[in-house]
Amino acid sequence: MKVAILGGGPAGLYAAYLLKRQNPNAQIDLYEQNAADVTFGFGVVLSDRALEFLAADDPETHDAIVRDLEAWKDITIRHQGQSIRIDGVGFTAVGRLRLLQILQQRARSVGVEPRFGVTVKSLDELADADIVVAADGVNSLVRRTHAEEFGATVTYLNNRFAWFGARRTFNTLTQTFRETPLGHFNAHHYRFSPELSTFIVEVDPETFQSAGFERMDEDASRLLCQNVFAEELEGAELICNRSIWRQFPIVHNDRWSVGNRVLVGDALHTAHFSIGSGTRLAFEDVIALAKAVGEHPNSVPDALAAYEAARRPILQKLTHAANTSAEWYEHFPEHMRLAPWEFAMSYISRSGRLDRERLRRMSPHFVQAYEENSLQGTG
Ligand SMILES: Cc1cc2nc3c(=O)[nH]c(=O)nc-3n(C[C@H](O)[C@H](O)[C@H](O)COP(=O)(O)OP(=O)(O)OC[C@H]3O[C@@H](n4cnc5c(N)ncnc54)[C@H](O)[C@@H]3O)c2cc1C
Repeated sequence: MKVAILGGGPAGLYAAYLLKRQNPNAQIDLYEQNAADVTFGFGVVLSDRALEFLAADDPETHDAIVRDLEAWKDITIRHQGQSIRIDGVGFTAVGRLRLLQILQQRARSVGVEPRFGVTVKSLDELADADIVVAADGVNSLVRRTHAEEFGATVTYLNNRFAWFGARRTFNTLTQTFRETPLGHFNAHHYRFSPELSTFIVEVDPETFQSAGFERMDEDASRLLCQNVFAEELEGAELICNRSIWRQFPIVHNDRWSVGNRVLVGDALHTAHFSIGSGTRLAFEDVIALAKAVGEHPNSVPDALAAYEAARRPILQKLTHAANTSAEWYEHFPEHMRLAPWEFAMSYISRSGRLDRERLRRMSPHFVQAYEENSLQGTG
């Protein structure tokens, strides 16, 4: 069997590893336009149980990733100068580049040598493959080539975000909200190594306009954001890595494969970064794909149909949660009118899936402190 994998992000690299591990005779060609040590962004969070699914089936990869994880148990919400801890919402984080390097090493360990620095320009270049795995991310060439057959749609959220890093660490994943004369700012910040943190700044369209970000280069934007969040940064610098302002794309496909071409990861779906699940979804997609290919060794159409049937219902739940969370952020300046404790409750309840009793079991200290504050009428 000959498999062409387009893209050397988490989905492509892990697909290469799994497919080769289960079928050592398969020829796996993985194409990645970037060099091996280049990527966008900084660190990514994984929920504290996000890697459990790897532990049983692939302890080597699990252990290699876990060694590099930063971990914490609470979220901190900063609003109107107050810091509120929400306990019981554990997360871990890893540098995106570090994660890719681990996955590159795993792919090599089974004999797949990714072809870095190769941009696939047309799918004709992959015509002799039995399966083409589209792990080519949010701007997928495969999806664009067959947009109509996939029933593909890409819609953009209104807010703008820029993905910076910070040369300092934070104790927990922190969501900071600031109202300034320029408008409303939010930062998602958390450490992903002993020295560095991710620092994603999000603004509503009005703030994007009034701050003049449209006319600024990366460095000017960086300096302005550094200034807005000076208190949190405590003198540390923000740093850039292709930290341009973007609108988050919501990718959806009615069908997941066309002929022998199959979508996985961000090429198939996106999940807003506020729920920190895109990387895990990418892993889970390719685990399901490899399983389906293993169970239908003689029929690519059957394998691809089985992959979609098994994975679609699970994915729908998560993308719904991600879209609900994204919707809350789309209105964050309105939520900021709430006093700090009400605001924190609005934040943690934003998925609509946590009633008070579930929340109490998950975050007992937070709920108790919230109720005490409500009784005192201090908001
Ligand atoms: C601001 C932000 C924060 C995020 N935070 C988190 C987080 O905290 N936790 C989390 O789990 N997820 C997070 N994500 C999402 C996560 O980054 C993605 O879901 C994940 O990277 C998807 O993996 P992928 O392999 O499908 O795609 P990608 O990682 O995008 O990889 C696709 C690869 O394909 C390559 N490629 C594309 N086209 C071609 C071509 N024609 N030829 C050759 N190569 C090609 C690209 O160079 C790229 O390396 C975040 C995303 C954003 C934007």
